[in-house]
Formats: sequence, C-alpha cells, structure tokens
Amino acid sequence: MLTVENLHRHFGAFRAVNGASLTVERGSITGLIGPNGAGKSTLFNVIAGRLPPTSGRVTMDGQDITGLPPHALFHRGLLRTFQIAHEFGSMTVRENLMMVPAQQAGESLLNTWFRRGRIRAEEKALRRKADEVLEFLTISHIADEKAANISGGQKKLVELGRTMMVDAKIVFLDEVGAGVNRTLLNTIGDAIMRLNRERGYTFCVIEHDMDFIGRLCDPVIVMAQGEVLAQGRPDAIMQDEAVIEAYLGT
Ligand code: ADP
Ligand code: MG
Repeated sequence: MLTVENLHRHFGAFRAVNGASLTVERGSITGLIGPNGAGKSTLFNVIAGRLPPTSGRVTMDGQDITGLPPHALFHRGLLRTFQIAHEFGSMTVRENLMMVPAQQAGESLLNTWFRRGRIRAEEKALRRKADEVLEFLTISHIADEKAANISGGQKKLVELGRTMMVDAKIVFLDEVGAGVNRTLLNTIGDAIMRLNRERGYTFCVIEHDMDFIGRLCDPVIVMAQGEVLAQGRPDAIMQDEAVIEAYLGT
C-alpha cells in the first residue's frame, strides 16, 4: 500500500533518516521500533507531509506522494495523528471530533476556531458521527468533558477517534502508549485491532512497549541510526542479533 524508497532527511550534516526503505502492506498493523534518535518520528513526519525529504520517494498505491502537504494526503486517506492543540482544550471532546473534517481539509486554525459557533446549526450529521466514534472507542462518557480535562490516555483515544471522523485508510501513530497506564493502553490496542479488522484500516505504529508491539504488530520494522535494520515477525525480530545489538549499543 505504501512504499518508502531510499529516503533521506538531513538536518545540516546530520542524517536523521539515512536511506531508509520499507513497505507497509495493506491491511497490516506494522510496528516501527528502534532506539531513541533512530529517526522514526522524522520518517513519519516526512511520510505525512510535515517535513520535506532531502531525497527519496514515497508512493501510495503506486502513486508518487513524496512531499505532498498533509491536506492532500488526507484526501487520499493517509493520516498521522496529532495531539489536541491547546487552543481546543476549552472545547468538549465531541466538539473536538466535529472539527476534524474542516481541520484536515486544510482550513486555517482561525477558520476552524470561528466554525465552533456554527457547529450546532450546521452539522447534525457530524454530531451523530462523533457520537458513533466515541461509542466505538468506549469513551461516550467523556463526550461533554472539556478536552483539557481528560487524562493522557483518553487524549490518545480521542486522537485515534479523529482518524475515524474522516474514514482514514492508513494511519500513522507515533508513540501511542507514551505516558498511558496499562488499562488504557489495552483499550487503545483493542481499538486499533478493531479498526483494522472491522473497518479495514492499515496502521503503522511507533511504540516502545514491546508487549504492545508483540501483541499487535506484524510485521515489525526496526530502525537504527536513520536506517532500516530489520523487518520481520515480532518473535523473530526480538531474537535478531543486529536488533539486540542496536538496543544495547555497541
Ligand atoms: P526517534 O523518533 O526515533 O526517537 P527522531 O526522528 O525524533 O528519532 O530524531 C532523530 C534524530 O534527528 C535525533 O538525533 C534528533 O535530535 C534529530 N532531529 C530531529 N528533528 C530535528 C530537527 N528539526 N533539527 C535537528 N535535528 C533533528
Ligand atoms: Mg520519536
């Protein structure tokens, strides 16, 4: 579904991504792991149109999407989750979800902000959709909470919910589990699995928790120093000597 060919992203002389090549198969939940500073987030940012590459190519369904801006990728169903901007913290969780289609379509933050006042009159359908999404994620009970007041794990679920507001096809998740307790991490894992099985979402997931990766992801891609070191089934990857070495440092 997605291929990355010989991708480079340099910052000055530093090669954060240094000739990475990989593929994400349609229908997979692909894991991306690697030590801190391996270039995982930079790779995601290049794929998702947040950072231009220094060189290399990204294709989706055979079409060149290298360097396309986020809203153009959104129209193809490619999304990277992003944190709830603090400007939206005073809005409810449901309202945050209702904003997503406009935001993702490339409307300015200011326009989206003004839209807040028009939501009620305008968009019954959006509200119904938001409520469906919250129910799917088992967080209907926080629909009317202000986004600033929910827990870190609940925020992660809402981030996932945002991808459902626009029926994404392929979703990039960066450290879903960071700072999230075990119970919520399981809820997030279940939601990812159900989105994959029931809605046909393809995922590429960066996460440090090996338990989470092992339970959810196949294949797993390992990055170190800007390059792809290994790719394979999670059990094989975790016994791979080059991978163990990369984690222990040499
Ligand atoms: P990971 O997500 O695997 O931990 P990152 O992609 O965030 O790694 O970072 C890879 C390397 O690139 C790090 O050494 C980081 O300091 C560097 N880096 C990331 N973004 C920038 C930037 N905007 N300017 C300079 N260096 C950066
Ligand atoms: Mg990172």
